[in-house]
Amino acid sequence: MPTPQQVAIDATAQTVTIRWTDGASSVLTLDALRRACPCASCKRRREQEGEGALPSRTWSDVQAEAVGSYGLRFDWDDGHNDGIYTWKHLRALARDG
Ligand SMILES: [Zn+2]
Repeated sequence: MPTPQQVAIDATAQTVTIRWTDGASSVLTLDALRRACPCASCKRRREQEGEGALPSRTWSDVQAEAVGSYGLRFDWDDGHNDGIYTWKHLRALARDG
């Protein structure tokens, strides 16, 4: 499984670009990433309210940190940081657009 070599958050473009050890790059919008938050409370909310539960917005101060050797945690400026996005999940999100 390739792992992220570099994670670049671009607040102007509202994207996260992940460069992987196999040479691939994934570009994800911050909105798409925030909506895909894998934590239990976001999952529950998506089940109850659907994918549109979280309105589109501009993110200004998003931080990413590695969690062990399997994932990334994003610190969102809405105060949320419970979700750990595994490498596999991030690759799948990028593939699915
Ligand atoms: Zn969440």
